[in-house]
Amino acid sequence: MTALTNLLDLDPAQLVEYCGELGEKPFRAKQLLRWIHQFGAHDFEAMTDLAKSLRDKLATRAMVAAPAVISDHTSTDGTRKWLLDVGQGNAVEAVFIPEENRGTLCISTQAGCAVNCRFCSTGKQGFSRNLTVGEIIGQLWMAEFELRKSKNIAPGPKGERQITNVVMMGMGEPLLNYEPTVTALKLMLDDNAYGLSRRRVTLSTSGVVPMIDKLSQDCAVALAVSLHASNDTLRDGLVPLNKKYPLRELMASCKRYLEFAPRDFVTFEYCMLDGVNDSDANARELIALVQGRSGSEAVSCKFNLIPFNPFPESGLKRSHNPRIKAFAQILMDAGIVTTVRKTRGDDIDAACGQLAGEVQDRTKVQERMQKMVEYQTKFGKNFGRIVEVFE
Ligand code: SAH
Ligand code: SF4
Repeated sequence: MTALTNLLDLDPAQLVEYCGELGEKPFRAKQLLRWIHQFGAHDFEAMTDLAKSLRDKLATRAMVAAPAVISDHTSTDGTRKWLLDVGQGNAVEAVFIPEENRGTLCISTQAGCAVNCRFCSTGKQGFSRNLTVGEIIGQLWMAEFELRKSKNIAPGPKGERQITNVVMMGMGEPLLNYEPTVTALKLMLDDNAYGLSRRRVTLSTSGVVPMIDKLSQDCAVALAVSLHASNDTLRDGLVPLNKKYPLRELMASCKRYLEFAPRDFVTFEYCMLDGVNDSDANARELIALVQGRSGSEAVSCKFNLIPFNPFPESGLKRSHNPRIKAFAQILMDAGIVTTVRKTRGDDIDAACGQLAGEVQDRTKVQERMQKMVEYQTKFGKNFGRIVEVFE
């Protein structure tokens, strides 16, 4: 018996090809795309404008399947986290962050990560495997229609869209899982699927230089780059990939990317590590770096400072709040738009990026979820979530 084709794995062009293989006309692919990605349909019987013969054919050869949900937790402020099973004891997470005028979904692209940044718990777990297109876009598919179901919003283009922005900032390095990531991005942008504008989709990378260039040609969405350091010596120790693609090359690739990007700036993420990269001198060195005064290209940018979410094996500490503020102020005084993400919940490994991973011990995940609810009740609704404190 041949395996069923998961239609979530196919981009619009592949779906046309697939319909061809079934002896169907290309416009059937458009109908299928709409049923799947606009109506969240997975049952071919429900696709009423397809001929009965096609529905029957699909039922025996195809499926629409996203990763199974292991746990689903909504905090009092509406932030919702799904832990998703991607097989062999691996799980990834997708997080929905509602805000006044938008809903952002943070998605994963790999189970684990091979880059092994010093401050990242995903990196410490090592690399398990690349996610498939269906597993990447499946996070958006599942989340959009689950959110609608919970709010009684009809599927289809007439129902109010819940996810207006997507950020690839969950587990994994998207540019080291390039083809599936780009296919998933194309589905996000396709008018017959999610129809998101390129400005509303952000890819975050630790700096895989050749792939940044390739992305600028294949699917130039908004770009975030995990900088974390103001010079190569420091960055070599935090983001090992820097030894391969040092700052000079990284900055040049950012500059090239901006010619094709939907926004006129790159977002630099900077994890604030106590006594490691958070001094006034580091801030001044950063300004010189992005302004092109230290031998690299100048890059139009915004900074997003992320207070480090500690985990036991890291041996690192989060910068203190006054230090973060002072650091941000130096950047802002130089005219660089700077935001600070405030995360809490780190002491129970419940903050962003710390929840997923090995799920052999599922009871532990449940325990953490439970703890998270308790902490939120005790310390307030923002416990464990990301809050922009100033811009
Ligand atoms: N691999 C990509 C995208 C996923 S990580 C990347 O590195 O850009 C998303 C963001 O979370 C990155 O900026 C990453 O550096 C940051 N991050 C990872 N671990 C963290 C931690 N323990 N505390 C704070 N930020 C962290
Ligand atoms: Fe991988 Fe990003 Fe974590 Fe670095 S920060 S180990 S690139 S997921």
